[in-house]
This record gives sequence, structure tokens and C-alpha cells, in this order.
Amino acid sequence: MKYTFKIASYFGIPVRIHITFPLILAAAGAEGWFLGGVTDALRGVLLVLIVFVCVILHELGHSLQARRFGIRVRDIVLLPIGGVARAERLPEKPSQEIAVAISGPLVNFVLAGVLALVIWARGDQFEFNDRFLTNLLIINLVLGLFNLVPAFPMDGGRILRGLLSTKLPYPAATRLAKDVGQIIALAFAILGFLNTKLVVLPLIAVAIFYGAITEERLVKARAENAARHGRARDN
Ligand SMILES: [Zn+2]
Repeated sequence: MKYTFKIASYFGIPVRIHITFPLILAAAGAEGWFLGGVTDALRGVLLVLIVFVCVILHELGHSLQARRFGIRVRDIVLLPIGGVARAERLPEKPSQEIAVAISGPLVNFVLAGVLALVIWARGDQFEFNDRFLTNLLIINLVLGLFNLVPAFPMDGGRILRGLLSTKLPYPAATRLAKDVGQIIALAFAILGFLNTKLVVLPLIAVAIFYGAITEERLVKARAENAARHGRARDN
């Protein structure tokens, strides 16, 4: 990916930020500034940074699981909309695809569980006494659950494709998962237009809609490539 800068490296996997990444920091800072001045601006930026620490941990979950199956992970790239772990290839078996896809959300659920234990051990109520830890817990629950929505490019889309491809050929499983994702995208778009507070939903819908098309194209290209190589070898 062009215009990325390495900021760290964990387990030998470089973490890069895309040049557009500071936009989300600027947006959070500006929103805080308008709401309550410098303190709220800093709080907004800090919150986004913490969310992205959770995103990096989520992507490391995918990456380390992929590596267990012998798949090399080139890097983790942070974009304003989230993170991507870029692997050199897709897992071969459906069970591997499911395991790699589920490992990201699992990291968030484990973090949420640990945070719940810490809040409980400190004798705090869950009534938002400990705002920071409770917020962090909610962030991780939301990250985990949102990624399980069965639509590409979310992890849930890959889990669904993995499950379907135990019964169907890979391209057919991808097509069916794509259709399910696009129905969900449509539902998100309608919900977003009905309720103006959910303005983010139509944006997610657009991302899902294109994510689904990209995934299907990718699989089609791979199948054609494999067929061509097969023919070339036959000749
Ligand atoms: Zn993920």
C-alpha cells in the first residue's frame, strides 16, 4: 500500500499508518474542541488512539493465527476507518479461514472479559464509576461484535464464507456470502435513513457493498488464474 509509514513492529510484524490516518485524530480533536475546548479535544484524540491500540491487538490476533498456518503476514496497516492485516495468501482450508477470521474478535472479547474482572476486583460498580475502564470494555465489546456482522469486509463475512465453503465450492460460497452481506448493507442503509442519529450506518453500508464486490472479484480472479496455470501445465 502506498503512502504508509512504519510506526512499530510486534512479533516481527510491522505496523504502519496510512497518510490519511491523522484525519481521524484531527476530526476527533476538532469535535472535542467545539464541544468543550482544549481538554475535550485532547480527550477525543486520546480516545481514538486507545481505540486503535485495541484495533492493533485485534489485527495481531488475526496475524498470529494466520502465521500458525504458515501464512506470512506482510504488515498491519491503520486507516482512518480501521485496520487491515495484509497476509500473503488466503488460508487454504475453510477451518483455517474461520480460525483466522475469528481470532481478531476473540482478542477483543478476551480484553473485555479481563477488563470486567479488573472492574469487579476493584469493587467498582458497573454503573460507570470507573469511566475509563468501562469505556474501554464497551469499545472492545463493540469492536468484537461489529466485526462479527456476516458481511465482507468484516470478519463475520469470512467466517460465513468459511462455513459455507465446507458445503459449497469456494466461488459459490463467496457469492452467497456476498449476497448476504449486501442484504445486510441494504438493511443498514434503510435503518440509517429512517433514524438520523444512526448516520454512520449508510456509510458502513457503502463500505460493505463495495467490500462484497471486491471480495467476489478477488476470488474470481484467483480461480481464473489457477485455471490458466492448470491449462499451462497441461499443455
Ligand atoms: Zn478483524
